[in-house]
Amino acid sequence: MSDERIASSEQETAVVVDRSDHPISRRRIPENVLKVLYRLHRSGYRAYLCGGSVRDLLMMRTPKDFDIATDAHPAEIRRLFRNSRIIGRRFRLAHVIFQDMIVEVSTFRREPERGTDENAELLITDDNTFGSPLQDARRRDFTINALFYNIADFSVIDYVGGLDDLNQKRVRVIGDPDIRFREDPVRMMRAIEFASRLGFEIEHDTYEAILRHRTEILKASPPRVAEEILEVLRRGWSREAFRRMVDSGLLEPLLPEVYRAIAGDRTPYFWKMTEVLDRTVQSGRKISDAVLLSVLLLPWVMDELEQEEKRKPKLRIGEVMLFIRELIQPVCARMALPATTRHHIEQAVETLWRLLEPPSDRRSQIRFVYREPFHDALALLELYAFSSGKYVEVFRQWQSFAQRVRRAEAEAPPPARRRRRRRHA
Ligand code: ATP
Ligand code: MG
Repeated sequence: MSDERIASSEQETAVVVDRSDHPISRRRIPENVLKVLYRLHRSGYRAYLCGGSVRDLLMMRTPKDFDIATDAHPAEIRRLFRNSRIIGRRFRLAHVIFQDMIVEVSTFRREPERGTDENAELLITDDNTFGSPLQDARRRDFTINALFYNIADFSVIDYVGGLDDLNQKRVRVIGDPDIRFREDPVRMMRAIEFASRLGFEIEHDTYEAILRHRTEILKASPPRVAEEILEVLRRGWSREAFRRMVDSGLLEPLLPEVYRAIAGDRTPYFWKMTEVLDRTVQSGRKISDAVLLSVLLLPWVMDELEQEEKRKPKLRIGEVMLFIRELIQPVCARMALPATTRHHIEQAVETLWRLLEPPSDRRSQIRFVYREPFHDALALLELYAFSSGKYVEVFRQWQSFAQRVRRAEAEAPPPARRRRRRRHA
């Protein structure tokens, strides 16, 4: 097919919304992003804003990042921008680097060719075939994520019905959901994530396909899955996302232990805890990955610890640590978490357990405050106490005790320098 024919058939497929009929204003696009778009355009290339930024701008939300799609090839982009570099091996794209931001510029791509064999493995392994704007829109995950903003005339281009779905508040897979979810099972988690974040519904066929393919999430790369889980916790829509992951059955194959602990109504505090957590991170407070993941694991771990204590009353300190370590190690391995994160989770949960029954002497209490995991454990205790209604007083006491210790430390005179005696030979 010649280029011209692609262009004309694509124009027929696309809905183009003029500047006067959509709310995207250039004032809401950072200057550096505009610079990149304009330079590409003036050099004779197509230059589109794409992905999440167009969706968010249309919804009057602030985009997390601004990605650009173009028909310039990576080497051409590299030549056009001195402050750029090519990254990625599987999928080569360019980063244009400014002092305070990186703008990602990628060449229009199409989905890699698939064999015709019905049972052929669908998982995508090679991703580097250039394509047309239509093909680039179609290889994206959801219709609302496949809109373009064209700097040439400030129009919005929609090849896949994304504008309609945006208006109807729907997350819909592009193409056949059975194929698209098998190609990349992480898309099932992303569907839930976008629906939770934006307050959208998952369109019927898309949702049915999640129900059908949910166990295939185990074929996805564990670090990508862990990153998606961390993302919902970090960005403050975990309650809604975990609710939907439980209801759709996606959590069960991934984290069966956690699923069993939170799915029934045995641990209503988990839902309260994620609600408090979401509010906390949305207010801008930084919470460590270890605490975020501990929140998810807590109902299960606390359950197991309580049962262990019934079997063996008065667990000793070393025994608690060993028990926690053996319990969570296989889960952390399945999620491919870095060893340091796993270690911090173990320490945070163990310290939390010990904070619940504070030592009686002051010296041990002070030592506690100076232990490295104290900060994480106190954050976890705060979430646990205010959502379960248990241990609120214990939390308050630790909090004010830690403040007093720190204040005393700040006010204390610096320790006197010891004089070095000169040694004479
Ligand atoms: P966010 O606001 O969280 O950054 P986003 O929509 O920009 O959301 P990204 O993960 O940054 O999402 O990805 C950018 C774009 O790349 C998406 O909007 C989508 O078009 C495409 N994309 C990302 N992941 C996939 C995937 N697994 N399959 C197909 N397309 C994808
Ligand atoms: Mg993005």
